[in-house]
Amino acid sequence: MRRILVAGNWKMNASSADTKALLNGLLDAGNLSCDVAVFPPFPYLTQAVSELNGSAIRVGAQNCSDQRSGAFTGEVSTEMLADCGAELVIIGHSERRALYGETDEVVLSKTRLAIDAGLVAVVCVGETLEERKAGREETVVAAQLTLLLSELTDADWKNVVVAYEPVWAIGTGETASPEQAQAIHAYIRTLLAERSANIAEETRILYGGSVKSANAADLFSQTDIDGGLVGGASLDAAEFIGICRA
Ligand code: PEP
Repeated sequence: MRRILVAGNWKMNASSADTKALLNGLLDAGNLSCDVAVFPPFPYLTQAVSELNGSAIRVGAQNCSDQRSGAFTGEVSTEMLADCGAELVIIGHSERRALYGETDEVVLSKTRLAIDAGLVAVVCVGETLEERKAGREETVVAAQLTLLLSELTDADWKNVVVAYEPVWAIGTGETASPEQAQAIHAYIRTLLAERSANIAEETRILYGGSVKSANAADLFSQTDIDGGLVGGASLDAAEFIGICRA
């Protein structure tokens, strides 16, 4: 049975005061019946780990290096993230693919290093509006998953979460309908099943793209949607808690 995971990607937002206020807001909600993780910017990771100490809310990073260690100025390794107390890392977010040229090869290297460091890799896939209009969404996500499916072992897959995020729905206020989202989640699960029935059964596939408390229940009740990767709405404690409660 896959547990719902609600993951809050803060992107390049918040200060240390905001981090404290937002996390206190989440802690005030008490026990939530799903898995919850927050992804603050790098400088606030250790603060978030200590603020959340003793709670079930886990902390993740928004990115990591594709190199293990060494002369890579400005980069942060997966070992460092684990050392800071992070337990998850987002890899291949569409903003990183589009703005920083992250390829599927880079996504694979980062995923490999994340798993080696004991982190859960939240790997993002999804098509652009142009690709959807051309009816290419399945082709695009299949291509983005090909290397992961061929290179990762069955054991590796236990530490992978897939996030399907249609680029046209990220930060736009436009959400895929529950039916549209379910259709592509089901397709992704078919791809996983071609690799292994167990991987298909156990791997969580999150939906991302303008998830809010008002649409979360409809999305999360779909058979193949196992939670959400939430951007904008994760910066508002009440809204994020509403999504977790959904
Ligand atoms: C995201 O950045 O992963 C995201 C889904 O953003 P938003 O919820 O703001 O669309």
